[in-house]
Amino acid sequence: MQARLLVDLAAIVGESHVISEKALLDPYCMDWTRRFHGPALCVVRPANTEEVSAIARVCTAAGVPMLPQGGNTGLVGGSVPGGRDTSGDQPRELPVIVSTRRITWVDPVDELSAQVSAGAGTTLGDVQRHARAAGLEYGVDLASRDSATIGGTVATNAGGIRVLAYGMTRLQVTGIEAVLPDGSVISHMSGLAKDNTGFDFAQLLCGSEGALAIITAVRLRLHRPHGRTSVALIGCADYEDALTVIGSAAQSRLVAAEVIDATGMRLVQDVSGLPYPLEQRHPLFALIEVADGGSGDGFVADVLETRDVVVALDASGIERLWQYRERQAEGFDAWGIVHKLDVSVPLETLAACARELQTVIAEFPKVKEFGIFGHLADGNIHVEILGPPAEEIDVDTAVLECIARYGGSISAEHGIGRMKVDHLDLSRTAEEILAMRAIKKAWDPQGLMNPGVLLPVSGEK
Ligand SMILES: Cc1cc2nc3c(=O)[nH]c(=O)nc-3n(C[C@H](O)[C@H](O)[C@H](O)COP(=O)(O)OP(=O)(O)OC[C@H]3O[C@@H](n4cnc5c(N)ncnc54)[C@H](O)[C@@H]3O)c2cc1C
Repeated sequence: MQARLLVDLAAIVGESHVISEKALLDPYCMDWTRRFHGPALCVVRPANTEEVSAIARVCTAAGVPMLPQGGNTGLVGGSVPGGRDTSGDQPRELPVIVSTRRITWVDPVDELSAQVSAGAGTTLGDVQRHARAAGLEYGVDLASRDSATIGGTVATNAGGIRVLAYGMTRLQVTGIEAVLPDGSVISHMSGLAKDNTGFDFAQLLCGSEGALAIITAVRLRLHRPHGRTSVALIGCADYEDALTVIGSAAQSRLVAAEVIDATGMRLVQDVSGLPYPLEQRHPLFALIEVADGGSGDGFVADVLETRDVVVALDASGIERLWQYRERQAEGFDAWGIVHKLDVSVPLETLAACARELQTVIAEFPKVKEFGIFGHLADGNIHVEILGPPAEEIDVDTAVLECIARYGGSISAEHGIGRMKVDHLDLSRTAEEILAMRAIKKAWDPQGLMNPGVLLPVSGEK
């Protein structure tokens, strides 16, 4: 049956776009964190929506699961196969990974509506550059911009460093095209500002993590750029202090407000060779970007007078200061397999929660190093832990339970994936999970779309 499916897939996309040889298949089966991996039947690389639709038809006819994959930069194991696929009542067939990386078209920017349509496999970086060439800006930015795809960012409802200014990915999406497991294509790409004609599939697919459909195209909202900005990296005593700094910048046109701790600063210096940026040592650093023209233009001048701070006013200086924040993941990753926990808490509890997290994590003897960085103004912190083996989840569970106690979310922006699937009930009620299951059942009655991701394969949890 598998041999027959491989022949059918090759007939759709051409033999060279069906990859089943182990050495070529392996990179698609291992995620960026190296914590998640599993076997697949093959990778299939369609060039357009028609080919995706034909792939879905033959996989569904064969009862074989499909795993949509973009840039494979996801951090929760959702973009690769996993062992959980065999945990249901019936052992499952190995999945076919449907890679969108050949679906890379971008339409000319519609300057009147400030929107653009793009194929799902177009990288975020390419969309950003395309928008910039038309004098506009795409509102999502992540350090993985040159690998992450537009389809992947929609499927994960990616956040990143511009959420404060523009919101999460779901606020940028005005239209969508997707292929359902039975091969039918739903397309609603008009991007109309006013369109109350029923359920909004674009919004449903934002954050669906490949568990409902394969996104093939997206229509995106663009923005007028902020103009000139400046960046300040400021030494802080603790989280309360860092939040005070953000509060004092709030009168300005705040574009980004990030936080880095001393561990992350040291690890980034180790991998990058960047010098320590400030005069004194601090436990915490706030990185603030403000645009010219707000009512609080004095912010940079104020922090310069009162704080240990370095300010960048030109493009190359701004890029250099951002490296201390953007290279955090790389800094931790250089030391081995990282337990990456992306969580959010209400701002008023963030400082207390961060303190408790430090105590909770330090209790695990296998933890060698841990740090916290993130998008401070969004209440979104990334907890990075080194030491425990990849498959051990005790420390992950302790962190997520602590977040739940503070009324937070166990996934701020990376999604649930395979990593947090057994912890979903810490953030969503039983009724909400049942409602999600009902939607999944309606769209994917055979349970073939990315099984084991977002919702557990079996059981009622
Ligand atoms: C260095 C680094 C920095 C990062 N920074 C951030 C950050 O600041 N904020 C943030 O939110 N994330 C961040 N990420 C995580 C990651 O880049 C995002 O989750 C991104 O949106 C994933 O896009 P992708 O194309 O790589 O998707 P993949 O990793 O390929 O897939 C991710 C999920 O989306 C599904 N999927 C992918 N494409 C489709 C499709 N066409 N249709 C349906 N489902 C699909 C997959 O099945 C999987 O469940 C970072 C990652 C790295 C490595």
